[in-house]
Amino acid sequence: MMNNIVKKLFREHRLTETEYIELIKHYEETDLAKYLADEALRLRREIYGDAVYVRGLIEFTNICKNDCFYCGIRKSNPNAERYRLTKEEILDCCENGYHLGYRTFVLQGGEDGYYTDTRLSDIVRTIKDRFPDCAVTLSVGERSFESYRLLKEAGADRYLLRHETADAEHYRRLHPPELSWENRMRCLRDLKYLGYQVGAGFMVGSPYQTAECLAKDLVFLQEFRPEMVGIGPFIPHHDTQFADEPAGSAELTLFLLSVIRIMLPHVLLPATTALGTLSPVGRERGMLAGANVVMPNLSPVKNRKQYELYDNKICTGEEAAECRGCLENRMKSVGFRLVTDRGNYKP
Ligand code: SAH
Repeated sequence: MMNNIVKKLFREHRLTETEYIELIKHYEETDLAKYLADEALRLRREIYGDAVYVRGLIEFTNICKNDCFYCGIRKSNPNAERYRLTKEEILDCCENGYHLGYRTFVLQGGEDGYYTDTRLSDIVRTIKDRFPDCAVTLSVGERSFESYRLLKEAGADRYLLRHETADAEHYRRLHPPELSWENRMRCLRDLKYLGYQVGAGFMVGSPYQTAECLAKDLVFLQEFRPEMVGIGPFIPHHDTQFADEPAGSAELTLFLLSVIRIMLPHVLLPATTALGTLSPVGRERGMLAGANVVMPNLSPVKNRKQYELYDNKICTGEEAAECRGCLENRMKSVGFRLVTDRGNYKP
C-alpha cells in the first residue's frame, strides 16, 4: 500500500488528498522518511547541484496590527518591545549583506501601517537602485491588489506569504475573526497574477492541525505551484494563548520537506530558522531532506531578540558575518556550499 503510494509520488509528482493522508499517517514507518529523502536529494542535485542559495533576512519591524494566536509579535502582546528600522538602517543591513555575498534581501515584518505603499516603495526602489544585481523579496503580509502592484512596480521581485493552512476551519482556529482564509488566498492569487515569484507555506504541528489539514496543504501547493515553499515547525511563544501547546515535530517537518521537493522538484525550499531552533542540526538535516535555501539573519543585532515570533529563536546574538560563517560551515558539513547568487527559481 505505502509502496504503491510512494511509487506513484515518484512517478507522477502528485497524489490525491486521501493518498497524502495515508502517507502522512505512516511517516514514522521504518525507512520511509529515508527513502523519500534520497529521492528528494537526487532531484535537488539534478536541478540545483550542491548549491545552497542564501537570503539575507531583514526583520525590519515587529509592529503589527494583527493578532494571530500563535505569533509572539501579535498586537495584543504588551510584553513585546516594539521597534521599526529606519530606511537608513535597512540600507545598512543590505550594504553589510552585499559584502557578505548576499544577492537577495528579504524584508520581513509585521503588518505595520507606518509602511504605506509610498514609504515601502521608496525603500524597495532605493535598494534596487543601489544593488541592481540583487533580488528583493517582501514578506509583509496581506495588502490590496493595488498595493502589491505598486510594490512590484517599485522593483520587488518575490513575495513570501505563507498560506498558514489550506483548511478554512483550521485557519479560523489560528486567527481572530478579522482575518480570513479567503483574503489570504486572494492575496496569493493576486501576487501570482502580478508576476511575483511567490512563496506559500505553513507551520508543521500548529494547534488543531490534523493529517487531513496537512494533506490539504500539500494538495494546495501542488495545484498553486508556488516558486517557494516555507515550512517550519510550530514553536510556542510564552505570551500567546498557545503557550502550553506542544511544538511541532522536526521529523515530520523533514519528511514534509522531502515530499514537497518530490512534488515540486524545482521549488526553492528553505531549511528554516524554526527547524534549526527545534533541533541543533535541523538546518543541516533540512538540506539532506531536500531543502536548497537558507535565510540567515541580517537584522541589526540590537533588534534581533525583539523579533520573537516563538520562544528560544536561534541566531539572535551573532553579527551577520558570524552567521554567514556559521552557516557556511554547517552546509559544508553535509556536502553543500553557499553560493553568491540571486538564486532564481530554475523552471
Ligand atoms: N506578517 C508577515 C510575516 C509573518 S512572520 C505575514 O503575515 O506573512 C513569518 C512566518 O512565521 C508566519 O507566516 C508564520 O508561519 C511563522 N510563525 C509565526 N509564529 C510562529 C510560531 N510560534 N512558531 C513557528 N512559526 C511561526
